[in-house]
Amino acid sequence: MSILVCGGAGYIGSHMVKRLVEQGQDVVVADNLSTGHKKAINPKAKLYQGDIRDRAFLDQIFINEDITAVVHFAAFSIVPESMSEPLKYFDNNTGGMITLLEAMRDFGVKYIVFSSTAATYGVPEHMPIKETDPQNPINPYGLSKLMMEHMMAWADQAYGIKFVALRYFNVAGAAPDGTIGEDHGPETHLVPIILQVAQGKRKELSIFGDDYDTPDGTNVRDYVHVMDLADAHILALKYLKENNKSNAFNLGSSTGFSNKQMLEAAREVTGKEIPAKIADRRPGDPDSLIAASDKARSVLGWKPQFDDVHDIIATAWKWHSTHPKGYDDRN
Ligand code: UDP
Repeated sequence: MSILVCGGAGYIGSHMVKRLVEQGQDVVVADNLSTGHKKAINPKAKLYQGDIRDRAFLDQIFINEDITAVVHFAAFSIVPESMSEPLKYFDNNTGGMITLLEAMRDFGVKYIVFSSTAATYGVPEHMPIKETDPQNPINPYGLSKLMMEHMMAWADQAYGIKFVALRYFNVAGAAPDGTIGEDHGPETHLVPIILQVAQGKRKELSIFGDDYDTPDGTNVRDYVHVMDLADAHILALKYLKENNKSNAFNLGSSTGFSNKQMLEAAREVTGKEIPAKIADRRPGDPDSLIAASDKARSVLGWKPQFDDVHDIIATAWKWHSTHPKGYDDRN
């Protein structure tokens, strides 16, 4: 009996694979390695290299392996890129979900844990954001993920495939043992970019906008540690097996940090100056995104271990400072 992790070579997926392996689970990874890294996959997991939009590829996995549940991370996830290349997102993210659900239906696989996102909420009406709040995404990335949530709900009704949608807020940090971490090419996310400036790999941080409706004018986000996120997926798998019911949960710390505060925290953790300047706003960014995370805590029993951004940044810094070239597998 194995868990299929789609996108298990990616940043969050590889941390999930590590956690599952540590728990003694048999893990099968499906990844096309378009953005992920072979070296990020725990050696105890079995890799099938291919694209989840390729039905024959998926069939091969479901025929060869005894898959009991799927954890689905395989998607593009860069908001600004989705603004300039929306169809790329609908094709890979939304399109990939169609093929995956069809294969699950045909092979009788009943459970899926899905990486959804705070971006499905768009510009929130309330803060902190509750799972029941309206979902009106303001970028194609968020919409591609919302469409995937809707597809799963209809697939539940028609075929009895049960899902847990986990709506991530801002994920950061790395495995505390320093073995795996975040390595995107090109990097677009705030924490790794700040740390690349600390390493001297970039000249300065550009803070995208300081005229937002927030206390210091810069965007406020809710940061959650990648290992805490992996733990929530483990609990979601347990929830599905015990309750046989679909559900959705926010995953955040319920605390907001502005981009300026993140920079300050990184200066404290690294002891580096980290030069920064204010730049133009980036399209598609809401003012603030803070999760109400009490549902995940009470229903799933989720207890995040990293509740201080300094600790989150410290684990990321350990990875970046010991792997200055990341996985070093690019040409
Ligand atoms: N950000 C920034 N400079 C950068 C990268 C990101 O000011 O070089 C800001 C971005 O505008 C947003 C926050 O950092 O307010 C988090 O962005 P990120 O891309 O890390 O995650 P997202 O919120 O898009 O999921």
